[in-house]
Amino acid sequence: MFDRKQLIEAISHQETPVYYYDLLLLQQTLDAAKQAADKHGFHVHYALKANFNERILSLIRNAGFGADCVSGNEVKKAIEIGFRPNDIVFAGVGKSDREIREALNHDIFAFNVESIAELTVINTLAAAQGIKARVALRINPNVDAQTHQYITTGLDENKFGIAHWQLGEAVETLGQSEHLELIGIHFHIGSQITDLNVFKSLCVKVNELNNWFDERGFRLQVLNVGGGLGVDYHQPDLHPIPDFQSYFSVFADFLERKPGQEVHFELGRALVSQCGSLISRVLYVKNGIKKNFLILDAGMTELMRPALYQAYHQIEKLDGDAGAQGDAEQLRYDVVGPICESSDCFGKEVLLPKCERGDLIAIRTAGAYGEVMASRYNLREEIRYLYSPTPVGVDT
Ligand SMILES: *Cc1c(COP(=O)(O)O)cnc(C)c1O
Repeated sequence: MFDRKQLIEAISHQETPVYYYDLLLLQQTLDAAKQAADKHGFHVHYALKANFNERILSLIRNAGFGADCVSGNEVKKAIEIGFRPNDIVFAGVGKSDREIREALNHDIFAFNVESIAELTVINTLAAAQGIKARVALRINPNVDAQTHQYITTGLDENKFGIAHWQLGEAVETLGQSEHLELIGIHFHIGSQITDLNVFKSLCVKVNELNNWFDERGFRLQVLNVGGGLGVDYHQPDLHPIPDFQSYFSVFADFLERKPGQEVHFELGRALVSQCGSLISRVLYVKNGIKKNFLILDAGMTELMRPALYQAYHQIEKLDGDAGAQGDAEQLRYDVVGPICESSDCFGKEVLLPKCERGDLIAIRTAGAYGEVMASRYNLREEIRYLYSPTPVGVDT
């Protein structure tokens, strides 16, 4: 797990900020997810956008997951890493002609189509290549994911998917599109969902729609219910591996599969969040009348989630008296980065052992939507990495 001693040693000669990845924890997480999914015969595609670090992608591919992509470059990357085209799906509200053409060239498993206009475009481009494209309709089920508004995607007010009142027209378009083959329906209602009841509500909607298509003579091969399973940002050491068993059980219990139907998932965050930490050093401690500021060498350019989503990350002091709870004097700090923005703040009023210049700070649960969102704003350095030793017997 999160071995502080080993990490401090490894980091002592390293420049910071640096992303630290615990590959052993990643492997354990992948094994747990795979096992829980296999029990029900479910297929899991990993959502590349959560983290497309190549070491991580290789482990995920080797563990037997497919790939869920949201851009042409992600499709390309998935193929470079060795994901089989037949295990790759491609979603996104704004696929460009070039991205569609390239994905058709690779003969990926399916396009998750987000509008009627996109159906027409894919049909035309597939016709030009003289092939048939496999498509799933991404349907907006109007289910509230009970999560932050910026990562809610399945409500009528969101830009994603085809609205239920447009399904008649979508089916009509499919009927006129000789170069499209409908293989299934697709949903993805949001991210960091921690209330499993949300997924029950999703199952109810999926069942209704599955019947709707069945009544119209469509034999859907795939029900793709997307991703969104949340992780524990508040207690990463208590819950290093999400409860995949309970998650998949909800779908096993509430989804009504027709004979031969496959169930597909697209997990991102749940697979990679806890294996990553952003490690930083304290540059300055600035004591004010109202506030104590801890100014780190990491900023929103390395981890944007707090600035973008007001996201919470556990912040720890790694060395010195950290963890020893003992007599160390505790202080409240606003933990901030060096970037010229007031939103460049990792946490307010964070209780930490008294810190000084040079102390090591870990920002936990940063494996998903962390380094992938990094920017060069302020002409910052490229991201640096440190990996735990590779799990025994696993080839990356
Ligand atoms: C982002 C995304 C996912 C993964 O979401 P997580 O919350 O990271 O599990 C799955 N499917 C689609 C279509 C996505 O855009």
